[in-house]
Amino acid sequence: MNGNTVLNVSLSNKAKAITTRELARYCERTPKSQELNRRAQASMPLGVASSFQFYDPHPIMADRAAGPKMWDVDGNEYVDFNMGFGALYSGHGHPILAKALHDQIAKGTLFVTPSESNAAVAEALKERFGMDLLRFTNSGTEATHDAIRACRAFTGRDRIVKVEGGYHGHHDEVMVSMKPALDMAGPAHAPYSVPATKGIPMGLLAEVSVVQYNDPLALERELAKGDVAAFIVEPAMQNIGIVLPLPGYLAKVRELTRKYGTLLIFDEVKTGLTVGWGGATRHFGVQPDLICLAKSIGGGLPIGAFGGRADVMAGITEGNVLHLGTFNGNPLVSAAALAVLRDICTPEAMAATNLLNGEMMVGIDEIIAEYSLPAHTVKLGAKGCVTYNTRPVRNYREYKASNFDLAYANWIYGINRGILLPPGLDEQWLISIMHTSKETDHHLNVFADFARELTV
Ligand code: PLP
Repeated sequence: MNGNTVLNVSLSNKAKAITTRELARYCERTPKSQELNRRAQASMPLGVASSFQFYDPHPIMADRAAGPKMWDVDGNEYVDFNMGFGALYSGHGHPILAKALHDQIAKGTLFVTPSESNAAVAEALKERFGMDLLRFTNSGTEATHDAIRACRAFTGRDRIVKVEGGYHGHHDEVMVSMKPALDMAGPAHAPYSVPATKGIPMGLLAEVSVVQYNDPLALERELAKGDVAAFIVEPAMQNIGIVLPLPGYLAKVRELTRKYGTLLIFDEVKTGLTVGWGGATRHFGVQPDLICLAKSIGGGLPIGAFGGRADVMAGITEGNVLHLGTFNGNPLVSAAALAVLRDICTPEAMAATNLLNGEMMVGIDEIIAEYSLPAHTVKLGAKGCVTYNTRPVRNYREYKASNFDLAYANWIYGINRGILLPPGLDEQWLISIMHTSKETDHHLNVFADFARELTV
């Protein structure tokens, strides 16, 4: 063992001891959550509505939320940095959003015939993201599902390529190599397609190929076969912390997809507004053929959208591609999205969250340096994360080499002190429009305490 490995093992052991102690404290602080989770388990698997919501020993049961804060049923107060897996960029219950919803409820929540707000929201998204035409869905999952269908119809090809470690929702095609065990994942230069769940037809796996993020050579090998309808990718990966594209990667992806007649889908469900006014698409300056949106555009209501090139979306106009859904673009979520896009997520408000995030990040970097933690931060717009790896992570394989003992201890330590970060390493924090320096200072104090305890 070299010096670094010894240090890492010793920190891991300390982290595990902190975790054991903090888990006991967590249970003491959350008895009602535990009781309610037990009750819920009698009627729902794991007692939750989505398996992402469950973690051991039991998830906290939310009671209410306001602005940047959330309270659980045991009366504990948290600064919410998870913010609905990044959907709540507007904060909890922004007054403009609340008024828009209130007004819309009085006027009707579901028409299943169009309303003017559909076009207004579509126009705002077109302008921000540079899309010609788009359609609404109810979730990010539906957006990626429908985008892939449109690409298959347009190209007449079936195969798609995705990135190992990338999450694009819970439909079968993209639940491949989400977070595969490394002993099942094959060689890094040509990863296997590993189903993320039972229940995925084996035949479907042949239509989904997998490459590493930031690996244009592997992508070209797949595209050169000439049968790939679409490459779906997050412009910056956000389900393994945050992994940024290496300089030139996205431009190369654009060049290769054009060269081989493959459509490029940017999944901006998580990046979206949190990166900036026109999402990661504008930020990185690479225009894909289709973009998928959800989460932040709806202010916490269930909306998604997909769209882009007029000729690809024309399949829907002509009736060759069916895109359907009872709740698509319903007036309630449309009112929310309009309030978000027009009145809440203004360039000024978004710049302020960026700045606040940057200031918090400087503080975290200083703490990491002061205590020589084997970690680094990654920032993108209003989001950020600490990755327990001394070197920047370029893909899923490198992410898997991070120290998850430290990441977990950091999370559980924070939750017992009122800092609600997303569980584990996979997600990232979000500074919403309603966070202030009071909340970011609280986070910095707790993180400094954690670093001190870890390293004494
Ligand atoms: N795409 C990405 C990048 C996501 O992170 C998610 C969800 O976290 C989705 C798609 C699916 O979105 P939804 O949960 O709204 O179905």
